[in-house]
Amino acid sequence: MKLLLHACCCPCTLEPLRLLLEEGHDIAIAYMNSNIHPAEEYEHRRAVLLDFAREQGLEVIEGVYDPQAWSRAAGVFGTDPDQRPDRCRACYRLRLEEACAYAAANGFEGVATTLTVSPYQYTETIREELERACEPHGLAAVFRDYREQYPEATRRSKAMGMYRQNYCGCVFSKIEAAEEREARKAERAAAKAAKEAAEAPARAAAEAARQKKRAEKQAYANKRAAQRAALKAYKQAHHDDAACCEKGNKAE
Ligand code: SF4
Repeated sequence: MKLLLHACCCPCTLEPLRLLLEEGHDIAIAYMNSNIHPAEEYEHRRAVLLDFAREQGLEVIEGVYDPQAWSRAAGVFGTDPDQRPDRCRACYRLRLEEACAYAAANGFEGVATTLTVSPYQYTETIREELERACEPHGLAAVFRDYREQYPEATRRSKAMGMYRQNYCGCVFSKIEAAEEREARKAERAAAKAAKEAAEAPARAAAEAARQKKRAEKQAYANKRAAQRAALKAYKQAHHDDAACCEKGNKAE
């Protein structure tokens, strides 16, 4: 079918595009992501996607970059972790509604999205929002769960030297991702310290055993040295006695 593929970024586009082309669809890509903050990041991801699409001979339709619309729709939920599912739902809705409106107005038959590549997204919510956005336009919601393709998407994008962002897109996700990285770093440091503490008695025992062995070796060496010195002294004394006797004999 004539399919509009909503793409959140280029690395996440690789595998869905490959699989949807294999299914035989006639595909154009929609870059409609007002969630991305800051504008430089939005442009960077777009440029990477445009380069790739040009190489593939694919058309990219760009939406209106409207961060304020995103703030009104999704940003209002803020950073409260309990509100994150609602925030992400509103974010999916804004972008997928934009993609579906464009698809309906331009003769597309269905809409798909690359959002499900990431295992960090709410996959079922994406399904619901894609179906919800397609339904009033009579478009087919070409939903696929691409989470299994995440490792391959990672591998391919790295192999291609492609820019890979380290946060989802919005200003809050940037803060959350940085906090999560810090938390993981602190966890690794704590685990390392705990491991070292757990291994300390064994290390101390091994060191004590080494010192004991060294002391035994030294004691043995001292003993042997004393024996050699005693033997040498004995030999010397014996030699002196023999020389004295010999001298005495000659004198007689
Ligand atoms: S974390 Fe990602 S999906 Fe959720 S609101 Fe932010 S940009 Fe949108």
